[in-house]
Amino acid sequence: PSPLGPTPKLVIDLERLASLPKEKAGALARYAATIQSQRGDYNGKVLSIRQEDLRSLAVIYDKSPSELTEELISWGVLDAEARRAVEAF
Ligand code: C2E
Ligand code: C2E
Ligand code: C2E
Repeated sequence: PSPLGPTPKLVIDLERLASLPKEKAGALARYAATIQSQRGDYNGKVLSIRQEDLRSLAVIYDKSPSELTEELISWGVLDAEARRAVEAF
């Protein structure tokens, strides 16, 4: 096992996401809303997503998964811990 502990989860801050301009965050917001709807998970302040979903989102944003992760950290939507989740790809 990693000395830093288990691979962290990708946890989206939904309140932060909702506060960002649509031009930036619209595609991610729609993706997160779809996952919430599929799960019937509407009341959370955060949403844990699949690693595979970050890959799909990177395609949507035309970035590598690590570039997108850095952007989402800079927006405050992902925690810096998320870097380790993406390194595990
Ligand atoms: P599915 O992928 O066939 O998963 C069926 C159920 O297995 C899920 O029902 C959930 O109870 C459980 N499950 C599957 N993978 C995981 C996992 O990694 N962690 C946990 N905790 N449970 C898991 P649920 O949540 O009602 O989701 C229904 C369907 O909605 C899923 O069917 C899937 O098609 C979609 N979905 C839900 N959340 C996500 C997501 O984060 N990403 C993607 N790509 N699809 C999702
Ligand atoms: P955790 O994964 O560290 O999550 C902490 C809290 O963040 C959760 O408390 C919940 O309030 C929120 N949270 C995280 N991801 C989501 C999400 O996708 N949707 C929503 N609505 N809230 C989210 P909670 O629910 O009391 O869970 C406490 C702990 O129980 C979790 O800590 C985790 O260790 C475990 N747990 C809960 N649900 C699952 C699950 O589906 N799969 C696994 N493996 N563990 C779970
Ligand atoms: P988690 O529930 O703690 O699951 C951690 C990892 O265990 C998942 O990482 C996945 O690799 C594996 N896993 C757990 N349950 C299943 C399952 O039913 N089928 C398969 N094939 N693998 C499973 P992953 O995919 O990166 O997901 C990260 C977190 O996102 C999950 O943590 C959970 O909090 C959330 N999540 C993902 N998919 C779903 C889903 O369909 N429904 C719900 N409610 N939560 C999900």
